[in-house]
Parts: sequence; structure tokens; C-alpha cells
Amino acid sequence: MPYRPVIGLEIHVQLKTKTKMFCSCPNLTDEAEPNIAICPVCTGQPGVLPVVNKQALEMAILAAQALSCKIAEKSKFDRKNYFYPDLPKGYQISQYDMPIATDGYLEIQIPKGRRELARIGITRVHLEEDAAKSFHDKKGETLVDYNRSSTPLIEIVTEPDFESPAEAKVFLQELRTIMRYLGISDADMEKGQLRCDANISLQKLDENERPIYETLFAKTEIKNLNSFKSVERALEYEIQRQTKLWEKDKPPRIQSTRGWNETEGVTEEQRIKEEEQDYRYFPEPDIPVMDLGEIISKSKADLPELPYAKRQRFKEEYGFSNEAVKFLASDPAWADYAENVVSELKEWLASMPDVEGTADEIYEENKKKLAKLVGGWLSSKLQGVLTDKGIDIRDLKIEPENFAEFISLIYTNKISSTAAQKILAIMVEKGKDPSQIMEDEELGQMSDVKELEELVIDVVKNNPDQASQYRAGKETLIQFFVGVVMKSTEGKADPNVVKVLLEKQLKKKK
Ligand code: ZN
Ligand code: MN
Repeated sequence: MPYRPVIGLEIHVQLKTKTKMFCSCPNLTDEAEPNIAICPVCTGQPGVLPVVNKQALEMAILAAQALSCKIAEKSKFDRKNYFYPDLPKGYQISQYDMPIATDGYLEIQIPKGRRELARIGITRVHLEEDAAKSFHDKKGETLVDYNRSSTPLIEIVTEPDFESPAEAKVFLQELRTIMRYLGISDADMEKGQLRCDANISLQKLDENERPIYETLFAKTEIKNLNSFKSVERALEYEIQRQTKLWEKDKPPRIQSTRGWNETEGVTEEQRIKEEEQDYRYFPEPDIPVMDLGEIISKSKADLPELPYAKRQRFKEEYGFSNEAVKFLASDPAWADYAENVVSELKEWLASMPDVEGTADEIYEENKKKLAKLVGGWLSSKLQGVLTDKGIDIRDLKIEPENFAEFISLIYTNKISSTAAQKILAIMVEKGKDPSQIMEDEELGQMSDVKELEELVIDVVKNNPDQASQYRAGKETLIQFFVGVVMKSTEGKADPNVVKVLLEKQLKKKK
């Protein structure tokens, strides 16, 4: 491709603080009844004074640390002036020249693309207040809900380091995961907890794929991106649109803002920025310059293991597959659950008769097989059941100890995988212990070979046509016979054992 996209992101994340940014009103979710969490401060009445929410400061600093930023010892707030009904004071308290943090980066892994690993520079992280929410009703009136007015946001600005829409999407997903790890936001894009504007220009490349022009062309900013998918789609659309302009020798030379139209799948021009809009920033006179030293040292100790490090450790320590790791590490609740299951399994293994060594040594010997079972049953089967039933892992009734016992039943061949699925469904529903369910529902593996052999003889006898076809060389019919036997045992037999018995029986001369 003779053009390479140059993409940067500007992201706002809603913080899950108890109270708002500058007053003691509760920080409610959007589902709350309108205008119940308001006071003179967050509705901009004259003569009131803002008080900085310390929890918001701590959260912002934690985020900046997770993004490897330089955190300012001293930081201040500024007023950003503009007029809109959702901004009762006529200005937003934000940060201009002394933000909380600057110069960070985040490394992301790109599943497919020109490069596997991208290091995305973080220009700055600052703290500010959100605007209220306005609605337009059928009568053409505009209604404003001030519950959101002055709730805390962090704004994260990246360098224009993304080379493709896919990179931007992966970055946002990783950022969401980090916010969840830190416990500072659920960062759900559909709920507006993570909002993103993207800016993009194209760079023309020479035959060695090096940019022809040293400076970047005017960027186009895209707004109204409400999902990871729409970020990717809007950027892809914009690349096509700008490529056509370049081909006509008319690359964008003026900055402009375009809105993403999800239904039409196009970006539409909103306004052309002749000059940067003048917000007449000036220091917020009611909030003194802040000294962050104390919070910075406290927050260093609070920083949890981050997703990237967790993925590495899950691979090395537990031997989970890449797929399982990707899923489990995407949510700290799943990651913790998996670790608890493994530690229960270690104890169980150590308590088995005829084993020698420490729990860790014994686990190490069985690691590969157990990792495959635990990783697979958690990331595909359990996740599937929970998704179907709309249950969050945090509300799961199965204790890690019981899930470990469940894995041990499979590991020791006490239950077949069909029976295991039935048991799992019951465990999710009732949270009972798996051995009990196995007995109650008679789902234990049929290990009596004599009994199975008799069944196999019957099945072969009752299907003479298939049996003679099999003997005539159509060996794929073995699957048919296995299916019939498994069905009549209600999934309680080991399909591998059944197959061996069937082959023995079918190959007998009549
Ligand atoms: Zn308030
Ligand atoms: Mn902002």
C-alpha cells in the first residue's frame, strides 16, 4: 500500500468514585432517575467552592502509573471556557499545562498486521469533570439530566502511533482491561464509560515504504464512536475516503471534524477547524496547586499485577494455552478464579494416595494435562454456560474448591465429558458438589467392561446392515456404532473404551 495511516486517540474514562469530582453528591450510574444527585456546586450556582475529590486523584494517578507515565509532583486545574446547556458553569474544570501525568506508553500485541508488537506513546493523562447529559424529546425540547454533571473523568491522549484501525481497537480493549484490573472504571464503551475520538491522516510512502513527506498532513478527527467495532469501521472508512483524495492529488490540508454514522457506515463532515477553538484556558482560582508526592508513593504500592504481566505468568506458571490465557486474563475475576481452582487442585493432587513430593512438585509433573483441562473447561465450557444464562463470573455459585473437584473427576476418568457437561450445568444452577451430583444423577462413568461388552454385542446384533457394511470396508461406520452405544449408556461410557470393544466385536468372523 502506498499510504500508511497515522492514527491517534483521545479517550475519556469515567471513574467509579463514590462521589463527584468537586462536591459530595453521589456518582450515580446512568440508569438512575434524572436530577436526584445534584447540589449548588455541580449545578454551577454562584458563590460555591469546589473541593477536589481525593479518591479521583488516587485513581487518576493509578491509571497514569499503569500507563508508565511520568507523574507530576505538582499539578493544577484550569478552566476551559465554552457555552453549552449541559455545562452549567459556562466552563469545565479541566487541566491545561500542568496535567497529572505525561510521557507514558502502552505495549500492545497485534494479532495480524505489519508489526506484532506496537509501543503506543501516551502524551498525557489529566483529570477533569464530565458535562451533564442532554436529551432531545419528541416535542423538540431539550432536557438536561445533571446527575452526570461534574462526575470525574480521566482524559488520555496518545501519540499518533497507530498504523492501522486494528491497532487502535486492540489498544482500547487493552485499556479497558487495565481500567478493570485497577478497579477504577468498568470502561464499557456501550455505556459511555469509555469514550473515544480518533484522529487520522495518511502518509504517502516511497517504494521502500518510507514516508515521502517529513511533516504530517492535516488530521481529521472522528467523533461519535460508541464501540470497539465502530472505532475500527470508522477508521477503515476514513482511510478509503482519504486515499481517494490523495489519488486525486487533493489530500486534506485543513483540520476537520467528522461524525461516524453507524447505520450508514460513513463519516460525515461536522465542521472545519480554521483555527483551534479558543477555550480561553486560565488557572482555576478556587483550587490551589496540588502536591501529589504523598499519593504517588501510596499508589505505587497499590498497583496490581497488570494484564500483560498476568498473561506471561499464566503461561509460564500454569502452562495454560494462549487462547485460555487470553480469555482468563481479560477479566481479573476470571483470572483469580482460575488461580484459586489451580491451588485447590494442587492440594487435591498432594492428598492422593501413593504420591511423593511437595504439592508444587506433584503439580509440576501433572501440569500439562491439568492446564489443558482447567483452561479448557473454564474458558470455553464454563464461560459458554455463563454467557448463555447471562451470569457474571462474580456471581458464580460454584466454589473454586468444587470446580477443582469437578476437574479431578474428569482427570481420573470418573466421568465422561458428556456427563461432565451435564454436571457442570447443574453446578452452575445449584452450586452443589460435583461428586454428589454424579451420584444423585447416576452420571458416573460405566467402568464395568463386562456390562459394556454385553451392550456392544447387542448393538452389533441389532444393526446387521451397518455391521456388514463395516465388515465390507466402510470403516467410518464405527462412529455410528459408538454413537448408538454412547446414547444407550446416556453418555456414561468412555467413548475410547467403547470404540475398542466395538472394533473387537465387529472384526469377529460370523
Ligand atoms: Zn453536587
Ligand atoms: Mn476532555
